[in-house]
Amino acid sequence: MAIATINPFTGQTEQTFEPHGEAEVERRIAAADAAYRSLRSTTFAQRAEWMKAAAQLLEDDVERVARIITVEMGRPIAGARAEVLKCAKGMRYYADHAEEFLAPETLADPSVVNASAAGTRYAPIGIVLAVMPWNYPLWQVIRFAAPALMAGNTGLLKHASNVPQAALYLDTLFERGGFPAGAFHALLIPASGVERVLRDPRIKAATLTGSEPAGRSLGSIAGSEVKHVVLELGGSDPFIVLPTADLDKASTVATTARNQNNGQSCIAAKRFIVHTDVYDEFVRLFTEKVAALTVGDPLDESTDVGPLATESGRDELAELVADAVAKGATVQTGGSAPDRAGWFYTPTVLDGVTPAMRLYLEEAFGPVASVYRVKDREEALAIANGTTFGLSSAVWTNDADDEEWFIQNLDAGAVFINGMTISYPELPFGGVKDSGVGRELAAAGIREFCNLKTVWKG
Ligand code: NAP
Repeated sequence: MAIATINPFTGQTEQTFEPHGEAEVERRIAAADAAYRSLRSTTFAQRAEWMKAAAQLLEDDVERVARIITVEMGRPIAGARAEVLKCAKGMRYYADHAEEFLAPETLADPSVVNASAAGTRYAPIGIVLAVMPWNYPLWQVIRFAAPALMAGNTGLLKHASNVPQAALYLDTLFERGGFPAGAFHALLIPASGVERVLRDPRIKAATLTGSEPAGRSLGSIAGSEVKHVVLELGGSDPFIVLPTADLDKASTVATTARNQNNGQSCIAAKRFIVHTDVYDEFVRLFTEKVAALTVGDPLDESTDVGPLATESGRDELAELVADAVAKGATVQTGGSAPDRAGWFYTPTVLDGVTPAMRLYLEEAFGPVASVYRVKDREEALAIANGTTFGLSSAVWTNDADDEEWFIQNLDAGAVFINGMTISYPELPFGGVKDSGVGRELAAAGIREFCNLKTVWKG
């Protein structure tokens, strides 16, 4: 794939970029390695000052950066702006909390290990390579970069090939905030160039957010090099609606949860599993609200749903729907690509989805919701857990017993009760099963890329 900005609203290539050659990649790895040697001995307070300065720069640039996001991948401008501000918040969060998350711990009674003192410290490890997707071009990167740099590591970013301007903005952001030159850089390389970088002995660990095949490939290379990885992969999150739910609220949140960011979120609700007692009413409300979404120019403030980020992504989504319809699914609304320029797909609600259809098991990465009718909570759980994914989940109920039962039994990295799954800097984020390994955000996220060093004194 060429490294280029191709505007999904027009389908036109706006700018192409020369990939970095061998010499430039080597220069950036060497710079990150050298920066690590100085960064590792700086104080948390110093790094926090630089991180907050970078957060301020980002906030000051909000309009420019939001426009880059919208033009490169089609996110409606209001959401793009919110993404930029969330990044600044996440940076300040790690600036304020890194020292507390990585504080040394000591054994209360060191005599049990025959020591005068014993415990643990968190130490940085070196360069972390991040392979990132286009769907939240700023936030996906910041949630790795802020904790990595605050821990004293350095970072190299291989961003998705269709968001090079976002990558180049981030390339200079941390240095502009005050971090040593080389502490964070982007590598403009294709996916095929990742293996050579990952096998470099100066790279100590890697994190990938993206599709399952990409995660498996990176994970197997890292395994062969005995390097730690965090993988944040796909999801097909269930959104379960039970008879005690507030249906008006549930259907409003369902509409946003499925369609925000043009339906291209790993933690979007994708499968709506509804108890038969409230099924007809929920589907009526949900369909009505989805059909009322404004589809259009993502730079227009009033647009709810813009184009998909890539033509191939739009075509794959259309194939999933066509397969389901050919095998008997019912289109409640949408169900086709509108006849206009750009990579649009009309927000869609389908019901009657069966295990024979690809949609039952595969991730729909766009504004397409499948709705399932279930007779009880056991059947709801069986469908919810019945895919290879396990990223997040949502349950709508006002019954305390149902609530606890689903929290205990859902195979997912998160359970949200009566709300929409969102990533927060304060809460760990990650999946089980084929949705990934490891955690980002909160204390868990910064500890992933540290050496938990045991210290024993005689
Ligand atoms: P993708 O094709 O896997 O791309 C993601 C990144 O991986 C890009 O930088 C891509 O580079 C690179 N890449 C692709 N194949 C690779 C390989 N074999 N080795 C190394 N790097 C490789 O993902 P996508 O289809 O663009 O993004 C959508 C997927 O990401 C969905 O499945 C979504 O659920 C998932 N996602 C997960 C999370 C999460 O936190 N769990 C968050 C967002 C998205 P190129 O662009 O150069 O190909």
